[in-house]
Amino acid sequence: MTHASVPGVSPELLHRATARFAERFPGPAPRVAVAPGRVNLIGEHTDYNDGFVLPMAIGRAAVLAFRARPDGVLRGHSVAFDETRELAVDALSAPGGNDWLSYVAGVLWAFASEGRPVCGLDVVVDGDVPIGAGLSSSAALEMATARALCAATAAPWDPVPMAKLGQKAENRYVGMNCGIMDQFASAVCREGHALLLDCRSLEARPVPVPAGASVVVMDTGARRKLAGSAYNDRRAACERVVAEMAKASPGVRALRDVTGEELEAAKPRLHPTDWRRASHVVPENRRPVEMAEALQAGDLARAGRLMNDSHFSLRDLYEVSCGELDLVTELARRHPACFGARMTGAGFGGCAVALVREDAVAGFCDAVLSAYRAKVDLPAALFPCRPEAGARILE
Ligand code: ADP
Ligand code: MG
Repeated sequence: MTHASVPGVSPELLHRATARFAERFPGPAPRVAVAPGRVNLIGEHTDYNDGFVLPMAIGRAAVLAFRARPDGVLRGHSVAFDETRELAVDALSAPGGNDWLSYVAGVLWAFASEGRPVCGLDVVVDGDVPIGAGLSSSAALEMATARALCAATAAPWDPVPMAKLGQKAENRYVGMNCGIMDQFASAVCREGHALLLDCRSLEARPVPVPAGASVVVMDTGARRKLAGSAYNDRRAACERVVAEMAKASPGVRALRDVTGEELEAAKPRLHPTDWRRASHVVPENRRPVEMAEALQAGDLARAGRLMNDSHFSLRDLYEVSCGELDLVTELARRHPACFGARMTGAGFGGCAVALVREDAVAGFCDAVLSAYRAKVDLPAALFPCRPEAGARILE
């Protein structure tokens, strides 16, 4: 295999994974499945409100070197954790665990739970999606596993049901209550495009990222765990608003069904904090649709304004930003090549994303990173991302 020619995957990473496979699991050469991480361009905390999101697959990926085994054993080696472990495939049951091999085993379990064929595998797990940074290394690993399993059992690859199986693995086997966006982006995305996803109907539409625009991921280096309690608080606030609104309008099932005027009219009946939370969600639910229109029209200034609006709303109304995210997005906005910037992912740390003039992106990254480092002593990183394709087998 000529690793240098594979788009969207680092050749060093491919070499490392296949070399490790040859070292640990001697025998016939492995096949390789790859699935990308993703960055959400806009639409934050909208998935569980039945709204829209606009993720884009990036050139950081999970790589799975694999070979089928006839004996029903899953034997995995992780490069990141430098560990080899094995499990019997027909003994998997949920909940499993939340270590690295559980993301692989969970997908096998999810396949089996729906009567799909599974088999034993030797796998080397590797990747360059930063773990726990909000770029979804976990969904990348799940979708690479699903892609590998389909190839190993000669089953057809159908990305939407595969995304659902990946989510099922993470929800039920690993025990993480995530939405569908991450697996969807990692399985379904097309090169050159972001993906406008309706989290209610699961209808999705590719949206071209226009020439002249570069998407820059800005990793703050801050890794504050999203306090499960803060996330649950936000969800509960949304549910209370829905319950109150549904008293007057029984058609309201989620904040998706509420307009800005209706929310304003209900203000006296709502707790002020709940009202503030919903005041983020209601417009944010529509922003991905508006941003898709702006990108389609090549209106980068409008796209950038929407990103800024989203950030201010997450910071002031939903209150899930943090000092590092506010700082890096503010530094980005001050740069003349920046159209707009916002935090991305659940918040309280992790990454932000900026839309930047492509011809000035290198200077932008240098300037913002050095200004950030002058104020914050954390392992921050900025990197431009091209919109890459979803999960695939490298032939
Ligand atoms: P993220 O925001 O990156 O998805 P999660 O906490 O959801 O963070 O998932 C991270 C977990 O996924 C890791 O702790 C590990 O168990 C697994 N994982 C992801 N990428 C890899 C990898 N390259 N190698 C081994 N395990 C990985
Ligand atoms: Mg994850």
